[in-house]
Amino acid sequence: MSQNWRESAACRTEDPELFFPLGEDGPSRGQIEQARAVCHRCPVLSACASWALLNAEYDGVWGGTTAAERRALRLRAASERPDP
Ligand code: SF4
Repeated sequence: MSQNWRESAACRTEDPELFFPLGEDGPSRGQIEQARAVCHRCPVLSACASWALLNAEYDGVWGGTTAAERRALRLRAASERPDP
């Protein structure tokens, strides 16, 4: 998948640290919500979220999703896949 979408990313002008909280609970929740707010005004949210899922990005907020949320999505997709 091409990564041209990155050129239109809303986070290009943000501090990258915002998108990599130390955790997903407690004080990190506020940071995650701030990152999500940027994602939700981003014109390439969908491409970013797909890229993070397909490339198993295990860290950070991508496409408005946290690492734990993407892990849950991958597990759900795997469980819904028919057996070979
Ligand atoms: S969806 Fe969020 S992380 Fe992805 S490019 Fe846009 S602002 Fe950056």
